[in-house]
Amino acid sequence: MAQVNGNYLKLKAGYLFPEIARRVKAFSEANPEAQIIRLGIGDVTEPLPEACRTAMKGAIDEMGTREGFHGYGPEQGYLWLREKIAASDFQARGCQVSAEEIFVSDGSKCDSSNILDILGEGNRIAVTDPVYPVYVDSNVMAGRTGDADDAGRYGGLTYLPITAANGFTAEIPTEKVDLIYLCFPNNPTGAVATKAQLQAWVDYARANDALILFDAAYEAFIQDPELPHSIYEIEGARECAIEFRSFSKNAGFTGTRCALTVVPRGLMGTAANGERVELWALWNRRQCTKFNGVSYIVQRGAEAVYSVEGQAQVQALVAFYMQNAAIIRRELTAAGIQVYGGEQAPYVWLKTPENMDSWGFFDHLLGKAHVVGTPGSGFGAAGEGYFRLSAFNSRENVQEAMGRIRAL
Ligand SMILES: *Cc1c(COP(=O)(O)O)cnc(C)c1O
Repeated sequence: MAQVNGNYLKLKAGYLFPEIARRVKAFSEANPEAQIIRLGIGDVTEPLPEACRTAMKGAIDEMGTREGFHGYGPEQGYLWLREKIAASDFQARGCQVSAEEIFVSDGSKCDSSNILDILGEGNRIAVTDPVYPVYVDSNVMAGRTGDADDAGRYGGLTYLPITAANGFTAEIPTEKVDLIYLCFPNNPTGAVATKAQLQAWVDYARANDALILFDAAYEAFIQDPELPHSIYEIEGARECAIEFRSFSKNAGFTGTRCALTVVPRGLMGTAANGERVELWALWNRRQCTKFNGVSYIVQRGAEAVYSVEGQAQVQALVAFYMQNAAIIRRELTAAGIQVYGGEQAPYVWLKTPENMDSWGFFDHLLGKAHVVGTPGSGFGAAGEGYFRLSAFNSRENVQEAMGRIRAL
C-alpha cells in the first residue's frame, strides 16, 4: 500500500471553516425558518467589475480565431500584465520593482504555500498569533513543524502574539528566526502596520539574515495615505522580502483567480554549504516546472483593473466594502462591544462581550441573531476571546445583521 505524507496527520482536525459549516448546518436543520446572515468566511460578494468582464469577453472572442488563439503562455505571466503591475502597483509608489520580478499566478494562497518549495528544512519560522491559517498549515504539510499541543500550537514554530496590548502588530522577536510571515492590512484582525513598524521588521531581517514573506492581499483597502501598501516602500526590503498580492479582494477575483508574487533580483538565500543563492532563479525554476501560467482570458481581465474605468470600478468596490466595515464598527460600538480594525481593512475584530470565549460567542450570535462570524481562537491561541466579522456582504445583509445584534 502507498504510504501517505505523515505530516498531514499532524494537522489539527476540525479545521476552522468546516467546523463553522457543521455548526451552521446543525442550527439551520433545527431552525429551518431562520434567515442566516454569513459574515464569516472572507469571500467577496459583489459582481466582477465591468471593465474586467468586457476584457475577458474580448479575450474569449480572440481565442475563437486562428490569429488570436493563445496556447500555453509564459509561466511567469504575460509581459503586458507584468509591466502594468510593476508601473501601477509599485513604481507609482516609489518602489523599484520591475516586470521581470513579478510572477503572475492563480492565487496568493497557493503562492504563499508553494514558496516553501524553494526554502530549506532547517529554517526557524515565525508566524503571528492569530494568523491566516494557510501559513501554518502549509508548513505542517511540508514537514517544517513538530506536533500540535493542546492549544493548537505546533512545535518548532515561533508564535508572535498580536493583541490589543501591542496594537495588533507583533513585537520584533528577541531570538533569531529565519522566516517571518507578515500580513498587513491583517487578516484576521484588520490591523495595519506603519512605515516605522515595517522598517523595524526589515531592519531585524537584514540584521539576522532572515526572509520576510509579506502578504499584501488587502493593500487596496488602506485609506490613510501615510500607510505603506508594499513592503518595498521600506528601505532595504528588496534585500530581505518577498511580497504576495492578489486580485481576489480588490477586484473580486476570488472565483476568477489571479494573483502575483514579487521576488526581487539579488534577494539571496543560503545553501547548505554556505554559498549565497538567488531566490528569483529558484522561484522561476519552480514555477516553470510545476506551473503552466494563468489563462490568457483571466490575465486580460486582470489587466483591465489598470485601465481608467477599471481603477474607478475597483475603487468603488473597495469603498462599498469599507462603508460596510464602518457600519459594523459603528453599530457594534453602539451595542457596547469593543471593536478593532475595519478602518483600513475589510475585517472588524471584536472583543467578545462578557468574557465569552470565541466559540461561545459564535453559538450565541448564531443562536440569537442568526449571524455567522468567525471565532478568533480559530486563527490561533491568542485569538481566544476575540471574533472576526467580515465586511464582504450586501449592504442590506450588513444592516440587517447589525440591527439584530443591537437588539440582543
Ligand atoms: C484572501 C486572502 C488572500 C488571497 O488569496 P487568493 O488565493 O489570491 O484568493 C491572501 N492572503 C490572505 C491573508 C487572504 O485573506
